[in-house]
Amino acid sequence: MTLSKPNPVVPQNEPTFRQSVDLMYNRAVALMDLPPGLEEKIRVCNATYTVRFGVRLRGKIQTFTGYRSVHSEHMEPVKGGIRYATSVNQDEVEALAALMTYKCALVEAPFGGSKGGLRIDPRQYDEQELEQITRRFAYELIKRDLIHPSQNVPAPDMGTSEREMAWIADQYARMNTTDINARACVTGKPTTFGGIQGRTEATGRGVQYALREFFRHPEDVMKAGLSGTLDGKRIIVQGLGNVGYHAAKFLQEEDGARITGIIERDGALVDPKGLPVEEVRNWIMRHGGVTGYPGATHVAEGATVLEQDCDILIPAALEGVINLSNARAIRAPLIVEAANGPITAGADDILRARGTVILPDMYANAGGVTVSYFEWVKNLSHIRFGRMQRRQEEARHLLIVQELERLSADENLGWTLSPDFKARYLRGADELELVRSGLDDTMRTAYQSMREVWHDREDVTDLRTAAFIVAIGRVAASYRAKGL
Ligand code: GLU
Repeated sequence: MTLSKPNPVVPQNEPTFRQSVDLMYNRAVALMDLPPGLEEKIRVCNATYTVRFGVRLRGKIQTFTGYRSVHSEHMEPVKGGIRYATSVNQDEVEALAALMTYKCALVEAPFGGSKGGLRIDPRQYDEQELEQITRRFAYELIKRDLIHPSQNVPAPDMGTSEREMAWIADQYARMNTTDINARACVTGKPTTFGGIQGRTEATGRGVQYALREFFRHPEDVMKAGLSGTLDGKRIIVQGLGNVGYHAAKFLQEEDGARITGIIERDGALVDPKGLPVEEVRNWIMRHGGVTGYPGATHVAEGATVLEQDCDILIPAALEGVINLSNARAIRAPLIVEAANGPITAGADDILRARGTVILPDMYANAGGVTVSYFEWVKNLSHIRFGRMQRRQEEARHLLIVQELERLSADENLGWTLSPDFKARYLRGADELELVRSGLDDTMRTAYQSMREVWHDREDVTDLRTAAFIVAIGRVAASYRAKGL
């Protein structure tokens, strides 16, 4: 499924995306005590492969350009999505690969960082053409071990979904007929083809769990000038693609937040009373944008809604959307980076100086790769995910039920155990429950590791720098342990 995205905002007078990530990295590294040379070794991208290939479509040959960048191999396989967009370029893919390294380190997914991209507007092609293009691109990457279960494992990103991952997995299996681990060559596959439940919603779910964890710490909530819980908080979300949609939906339906603004490529919808996320999403799927949606105010210049009053701003589309041109106008006291790199280094300086609290991308959107890790493990173990955990859980529950039954037989206590409770309790968790609880646990632990640095060190005033310090420290430790 390909959803429309807000138009790319490419800041002209600012560093490139990769330079922006490097500037943020450098700021953190300056506060660390790394051996000379290691800081450069970790910062730079190890290699970027560029491929140009032709596909015969509609009677003529069309040439496509694609990339797969490997940022750090301190752990293998390396991991990161494949993006389909016309704006894809080497600088962007390298920046995204670097962010994958730090993201995986922060949430302790045992992978190095990688990212791929194909310069294409997927909306211009039908399904059969996209399959042809995807299989050809995958062929080029598989030939060079840039897709491989133990070396490089892609996943969905902007413009791709489980459909493309299934084609890639099948292409790999055809080219490696004796590899019993073939399915682990890519994650984010359909559940009917080696995928795991909860992967499609995972990044949005992770955004929800990140915010829930943040709101468990009143001291941190106060730093953002907010108070209370997520209930009733006004949220503006940019991009109602896979990530933005799931984050907004869960926050609205399960935490009582109000989605007061939705920004899309053809404008924005605003309603101070809250927009029905599911309905808006259905409208976009049917009409290709938010234009014409009844029952809400339509703002033609969508990006201006980023500057509207709200409690939480969730950029969930492209990089660089909060930049030097609008950073001073942003009013949200709390920003959650559901997208990768939505705030440029310059804008980050302005917001940080002002005390805006930012849950950084490498933390806020790590839900996707976290559940990808579960999928990869499931594929390699060749058993239904969670089977062992479920057995252990059932055994524990059985002991508790037996004890309760013993107590309920005691006439003096005057109560009995209902058969319904017994049945439900003995059932154990299914795959989706296990995935969600594993993700929740990951998001809590990662927040706490960042928070510790943020609170304990006087020279660290923001969560992004704290996240970098934790992540870089872990990458450095693994280089120290295994050598370069
Ligand atoms: N594309 C996603 C990201 O940027 C997921 C990567 C993965 O699951 O490997 O984090």
